[in-house]
Amino acid sequence: EITTEAQLRAAWYEFWSARSHEVVKSASLIPTHPTAPMFVNSGMMQFVQYFLDEEPVPFETKRATSVQKCVRAGGKHNDLDAVGKSLRHLSFFEMMGNFSFGDYFKENAIKWAWEFVSDVLKIDTSKVWVTVHISDDEAEQIWLNDIGVPADRIQRLDKDNFWEMGETGPCGPSTELFYDFGPEFGPEGGPANPDAEHRFIEFWNVVFMESFRDSSGTLTPLPNQHVDTGAGLERLVGVLRGSPSLYSCDTLEALVNEAAKVSGKTVGAHPKDDQAMRVIADHVRSATFLISDGIIPSNEGRGYVLRRIIRRAVRFAYLLGIMDEMMPHMADLAIDTHKNYYPELDEQRDLIRKTLASEEAKFRSALETGLSILGAELKGLKGDAMLSGETAFVLHDTHGFPLEITAEIAEDAGHDVDVDTFRKLMTEQRERARASRKKGNVSDQAIDYKAIMDAYGATEFVGRDTYETTAKI
Ligand code: ATP
Ligand code: MG
Ligand code: MG
Ligand code: MG
Repeated sequence: EITTEAQLRAAWYEFWSARSHEVVKSASLIPTHPTAPMFVNSGMMQFVQYFLDEEPVPFETKRATSVQKCVRAGGKHNDLDAVGKSLRHLSFFEMMGNFSFGDYFKENAIKWAWEFVSDVLKIDTSKVWVTVHISDDEAEQIWLNDIGVPADRIQRLDKDNFWEMGETGPCGPSTELFYDFGPEFGPEGGPANPDAEHRFIEFWNVVFMESFRDSSGTLTPLPNQHVDTGAGLERLVGVLRGSPSLYSCDTLEALVNEAAKVSGKTVGAHPKDDQAMRVIADHVRSATFLISDGIIPSNEGRGYVLRRIIRRAVRFAYLLGIMDEMMPHMADLAIDTHKNYYPELDEQRDLIRKTLASEEAKFRSALETGLSILGAELKGLKGDAMLSGETAFVLHDTHGFPLEITAEIAEDAGHDVDVDTFRKLMTEQRERARASRKKGNVSDQAIDYKAIMDAYGATEFVGRDTYETTAKI
C-alpha cells in the first residue's frame, strides 16, 4: 500500500521507467528559459526548449519523467495568498511529471495515467472525475470508450482546461483528474461546480502541448505535439490518505507539529492557530528551498518574494506567541525531511540558517511597533473605510511590512487598503532612492547580505533580473 511521499516518488519513477521514460532530476527553482515566469512553477519548465523545438530532445526514447520542486508565489501561477486558508494550495510543492516530446500523445497519456491511478495507487476510481477542454472530443472519447469512465463523471470546461506556462510560452488543452472527498466537503456537481472546490480536488493534469502564445497573445501551432503531465505529489498523498488537506503529508505534518511544539499550541484547537501553523510550515519550506537555490532576500523581484514569505511566516509566529527566533530551527526540520531527494538543502544549511536568522531578527525588531500602529489605525476606521495608503507606506518603509501583510491584517478587520496611493508613494520613494544611489550611497541591506554570501558562498544566479515585484491583491 502506498501512503507516503517516499513510496509515491519511488512508484512514480518505477512506473514511467518501465515505459521507457528517462528519469530526469528536478531543476533549480530559478528558470533559465527566456519566456519563463519568475519561478519554476511546474515540471515542464526545464523542458520548454524541447517543446518549442529550439533544441534537439536529448532523450533517446523522446520520453522523460521527473519529480520537480515548484514554487507558485509570483508571476502567472501565484498561490501565496491562499496558503493557510486553502488546504490544497502550497507555495512550494513537488510536481510529478511524465513527458512525451513529439512521441506518444492523448491515447497513451490517458491510458497510463489511469493505469497508475487505478492499478498502482489503487485509488477508488468510482470517486474520480475527469474534465476535458470544451473543444476536445478526442480526449473525451478516449475516457468514455477506451477507459470506460461513465459520461456523468466527465465534464467539459473552458479556461480551467487550457494550461499555459506563463503570459507567453507553450500551452494547450488539458484533461484533469479530480477526487471526490464526499458530501461533507461540499455540494454535488463535480469539478464544474465552483462551490464544490473543497470537495472535488484536482490531483492530475495532462496537458496536450500544441500551441505557443506570443507576447501579443496570439496562438500559433508548435512544430510537434507533446505531452506534459503534472501530478501534485502532496495532493496524491492526500487522496491516498483520504484527506483533502495537504498538511496531512508527512513532511508538512511534521512542520505543523513542530510549530505547535514551539508555540505551545495544540493542533486542531483553534482554527486561527491552525491557519498560522500551516502558513509557518509552508513558508518555512518554501524559503528554505528558495535560499538553497541561490535567492537572497531583497527589495526586488524574486528576492522580495522570498522576503515576503519569510516575513509572513514571522508574523504568524508572533501571532502564535512565539517571541524567540524560530525560522532557523524550523528550517532544520525542513532540510532534514527533504535532504534525501534534495542534497543541496543540506549543503546550504549554514547559508539557509544565517539568512533566515538575519531576516527574522530584522523583521521582529519592527513588528511590534508596526502592529500597534496598524491596530490603532484600523480601530479608528468607520464602516468599511479603506486603510490609508500613507499608513501602508509608513508600515512598509519604516517597519518593513510588505503590502500583502498589511492588506491581510486589514482584511481580517474588514477593510481594504488604498493601494493606489500606496503605489504612488512607493514610486516617489523609489525615485528618491535612485537619485541618492547616484550620489554613491549604498544601502545597508546590500552590505548585510554581502557579508553572509562572502562567508557562505553564493550560488550562481541565472535568468533575468527584473520582475514584477508585488502580486496583485
Ligand atoms: P488548482 O486548480 O487546484 O489551483 P492548477 O490547475 O492551478 O490547480 P496545474 O497548473 O494544473 O494546477 O498543476 C498541476 C498539478 O499540480 C495540479 O493538478 C495539482 O495536483 C498540483 N498543484 C497545483 N498547484 C498546487 C499548489 N499550489 N499546491 C500543491 N499542489 C498544487
Ligand atoms: Mg491553481
Ligand atoms: Mg485547476
Ligand atoms: Mg490544473
